[in-house]
Amino acid sequence: MSDLTNFIATNADWFYLAGAILFVLTLRGLSSPKTAIRGNRLGMVAMAIAVITTFFLAEGPIMWMIIGAMVLGAAVGIWKSKTVAMTQMPETVALMHSLVGLAAVAIALATVLHSDQEYNTVTRLELFIGCFIGAITFSASVFAFGKLAAKSWAKTVNGGWVKPVQALLFIAMLGFGAVYFITDSLTAFYVMTVLAIAFGWMWIAPIGGGDMPVVVSLLNSFSGWAAAGIGFTLGNSMLIIAGSLVGSSGAILSYIMCKAMNRSLINVLFGGMGSAAVAGGADDGAPKNYKSGSAEDAGFLMSNASDVIIVPGYGMAQGRAQNAVKELYELLKEEGVNVRFAIHPVAGRMPGHMNVLLAEADVPYDDILEMDEINSDFPSTDVVLVIGANDVVNPSAKDDPTSPIFGMPILEVTKAQTVMVIKRSMSTGYAGLDNSLFYMDKTMMIFGDAKKMVEEMVRSINGGGH
Ligand code: NDP
Repeated sequence: MSDLTNFIATNADWFYLAGAILFVLTLRGLSSPKTAIRGNRLGMVAMAIAVITTFFLAEGPIMWMIIGAMVLGAAVGIWKSKTVAMTQMPETVALMHSLVGLAAVAIALATVLHSDQEYNTVTRLELFIGCFIGAITFSASVFAFGKLAAKSWAKTVNGGWVKPVQALLFIAMLGFGAVYFITDSLTAFYVMTVLAIAFGWMWIAPIGGGDMPVVVSLLNSFSGWAAAGIGFTLGNSMLIIAGSLVGSSGAILSYIMCKAMNRSLINVLFGGMGSAAVAGGADDGAPKNYKSGSAEDAGFLMSNASDVIIVPGYGMAQGRAQNAVKELYELLKEEGVNVRFAIHPVAGRMPGHMNVLLAEADVPYDDILEMDEINSDFPSTDVVLVIGANDVVNPSAKDDPTSPIFGMPILEVTKAQTVMVIKRSMSTGYAGLDNSLFYMDKTMMIFGDAKKMVEEMVRSINGGGH
């Protein structure tokens, strides 16, 4: 046993290096649905190497504490992975980030508390930065979780007092951090931690529920930097590397999401389109005409088409319609129709939301295409079936310079011959904008819940023959 401990302890850096390489390969694997499972497995191996190596570096009674924490963590993790619904994924991710933040705070506090010597200025700076980023990540993520899970304690706050309070908390937090840095005062460190927790909460509280996914992605990035900061304190190269990977990939993802919504990160974080609806573009208020049809009409049109593109959006997730959609897809394929899915980068409420749902329903990856891959195919498409998507197919993003979403890349469904839109009403989507697509001659609205409507389409094609 002690030989093994010795061997691992003396070669820890090599094990950490192997783990780091595997983490990089994990990210590479996760970049495509086809390789995602392999990526996940590599991540599990990398994490196991990191945990086991660190375990063998620990001494005496600490071992048992680590084992206890691991058993507890694994039990909660396994229970959560078995019980969480796909639709609860965004809030679950937010909750997991809060734990990373909390871990960073706990490690920083433990390090500060158990020091028998005065830390040098570099270590104090690392502890200060790691702890305050961790504390902000913790409380902001808890709030993001509450908002996404529609908890009553996580209501959006508004008002003129919000920004001054935020600024005050932030400045006070930095002030106490500076006092700790200069004087090594433990009290200053504790006060700084509490202020950082309060700031994280107040920072996220004014942001609307719809913007939470970008915030969660940013917090993901923060949790990575917090881990990296603590990695410096503990002298743990694995933590520094893994933290930096999480930090930079989260930052890149936040940037991609903002770009796909045609918004800046500053706009998301400090105002703009939040929970409140945004006034639409040019709209004279006059009643507009639209056509509506039944699921049977839609079933008939699609089964007689040769090319159909399905555009899923938030409504498919909300209505949990993915399995019915898969059935429709298979049925049309059997009828000899070329059916494919078009995925907008911000369709739904989190990155990859649609891909996850379609993968869960076992839709073959080859028929799921990203916006850039499929946009040029719309002109040669007979029928587009939009299922609970709105903003991502709104033509005003292209045609109306007065629209708040002008410039946002969209799926150009208006170029197809016929467009059918399943939604429950004429109400707006996340951006709160009217959608001129719904009033076009080539568009047929099919009003109803996504799952119910798609099931009806399946029934009508099944029973209809043609
Ligand atoms: P939207 O929010 O624009 O529209 C969804 C539509 O689905 C609504 O108009 C709603 O209409 C309909 N709907 C809701 N529930 C159901 C149901 N059960 N059955 C049928 N229809 C339903 O969604 P999109 O996917 O088109 O666009 C995503 C939006 O979210 C974009 O504006 C994007 O910027 C934003 N966003 C996305 C993020 C991401 O990472 N994916 C992150 C942050 C924001 P009705 O009520 O009439 O049924």
